[in-house]
Amino acid sequence: MAVERVFPNDEGPDLIELTREICAKELRPRVDEAERAAAEGEAFPTEVFRTLGQAGLLALPHPEEHGGGGQPYETYLQVVEEIASAWMSVAVGVSVHSLTAFPVTTFGTQAQQAALLPGMLSGEQLGAYALSEQQAGSDVASMTTRATRVDSGGEPTAYRIRGRKAWISHAGHADYYTTFARTSDDGGRGISCFIVPGDATGLSFGTPEKKMGLHCDTVREVSYEDVEVEAGRRIGAEGQGMSIALAALDAGRLGISAAATGLAQSALDVASAYAVERRQFGRAIADNQGLAFLIADMEAAVGGARAAYLHAARLKDAGRPFSKEAAVAKLLATDAAMRVTTDAVQVLGGAGYTQDFPVERMFREAKVTQIFEGTNQIQRLVISRHVLR
Ligand SMILES: Cc1cc2nc3c(=O)[nH]c(=O)nc-3n(C[C@H](O)[C@H](O)[C@H](O)COP(=O)(O)OP(=O)(O)OC[C@H]3O[C@@H](n4cnc5c(N)ncnc54)[C@H](O)[C@@H]3O)c2cc1C
Repeated sequence: MAVERVFPNDEGPDLIELTREICAKELRPRVDEAERAAAEGEAFPTEVFRTLGQAGLLALPHPEEHGGGGQPYETYLQVVEEIASAWMSVAVGVSVHSLTAFPVTTFGTQAQQAALLPGMLSGEQLGAYALSEQQAGSDVASMTTRATRVDSGGEPTAYRIRGRKAWISHAGHADYYTTFARTSDDGGRGISCFIVPGDATGLSFGTPEKKMGLHCDTVREVSYEDVEVEAGRRIGAEGQGMSIALAALDAGRLGISAAATGLAQSALDVASAYAVERRQFGRAIADNQGLAFLIADMEAAVGGARAAYLHAARLKDAGRPFSKEAAVAKLLATDAAMRVTTDAVQVLGGAGYTQDFPVERMFREAKVTQIFEGTNQIQRLVISRHVLR
């Protein structure tokens, strides 16, 4: 069922119409087959990202002067939600790509923005966000990947990056890697941010992780063997990387919240259509209040998730602090996605447990939303620190 939406600007309705058209023509017909193929081996929907890029949907919340869409988060996130209702891996990819450009749009110098953003925002290039390491997941400040100045004394001209990043979405397919590496041993204050070109010498990739779902979101290790990066590709000051990463994640969590909401909406749509069609005991299963109330709870969970991310987006668009609200939205929306997709499988009974219906895939896809971009335990840490400080 098409979701009723309101927007803070006139472009919102047109963007949603365009997104729904692309979803109907390009995404929905491909998703099941592509996800199955990707589970068997490696397959990455490069052409789908290209289509979204050409339509201007890969850079909606970024400034227009560098090729972005200049859209408020409130509008951008509703587009992400629509994409997720058609193809979750692609919606996560759109959100990750947006995250990779955020450090440059927010902390880059004018020269860096002029040099880097046209490619990033035009849809010609796809980004990867390289923060996590095997031993530095939730505790990301303990990372060991190191960027060392090539020259001694004065202003640096270049850095050499050495180390390994883990769980990197788009690895091996991305055109650039927004990379966080240690430039001093001063804990979280010793981390800096670099934009590393995808074809840099010394950059290599592990084999794709064999995951539970979201197969078209290829995830691999990224190795940096003395990868040389010119100093002009360091975003922000030396040591500013952690605050850049955290600011980017606040915005990124909203993208994941919107994607989780779209996934849950889609599972609810499948479940409610099935419930009015499927007959047992001489009547539609939806005519049993026990089942109808399950559908009502699913609707309430999806609506609550949407309200939470839109509230955080409105604060962000108004230039107000939104870190706590982004964590609340991520917690609520991803828990809702897990619960609603689980209940959708239940509504379909045995059929829901087969690949004949998409709820089996959606159930597997929901789980990771409670894990990446800060697990939901970490969201609770963020929220409780805000409330109790
Ligand atoms: C499909 C996928 C895609 C990803 N994409 C990217 C990407 O593009 N870029 C990137 O940088 N990373 C990416 N990640 C990594 C992701 O962000 C991490 O997996 C996540 O931050 C958790 O880290 P971890 O897996 O090391 O778990 P751990 O940190 O080891 O946590 C294990 C468990 O302990 C809990 N825990 C840890 N610390 C605390 C605490 N203080 N209090 C309470 N509980 C705690 C956690 O909540 C979790 O339940 C991706 C991961 C996956 C699975």
